[in-house]
Amino acid sequence: MPGLFDGTSLQQPVTCEYCTNPRDACVCPRDAAGEPCPPSTQHPRVRREKRRGKPNTIIAGIHAGPNPTGKHGDLTPFLKSLKTKLGTGGGLADSPGGLEIVIQGDHRDALVDHLKSFGYHAKPAGG
Ligand SMILES: [Zn+2]
Repeated sequence: MPGLFDGTSLQQPVTCEYCTNPRDACVCPRDAAGEPCPPSTQHPRVRREKRRGKPNTIIAGIHAGPNPTGKHGDLTPFLKSLKTKLGTGGGLADSPGGLEIVIQGDHRDALVDHLKSFGYHAKPAGG
């Protein structure tokens, strides 16, 4: 019944506007204040890279927080959601450009599509 609580303090969205999960299960990168960061402000680059001889896919440029120099909040739930979706492992790694998400295996195209579905301005990078 839409509109039932319109104009009252109960008029709250029950799902995250970015990842569409229930708000208590939101996986969006969080800033230091715990607020989800809007994907539309982010321009991640997704590249392939071999680490210890194995293919990995690296996502650079997702920042939890407004600071583009790499200051970050919490990317852990977001990382976990990617690993679950792809059924693979991964982790977070510091780099000179900020925190990067490392996903095991070559999932570049799938990750670009997935990030775009959240509203990120994702682009493939490298070869
Ligand atoms: Zn969310």
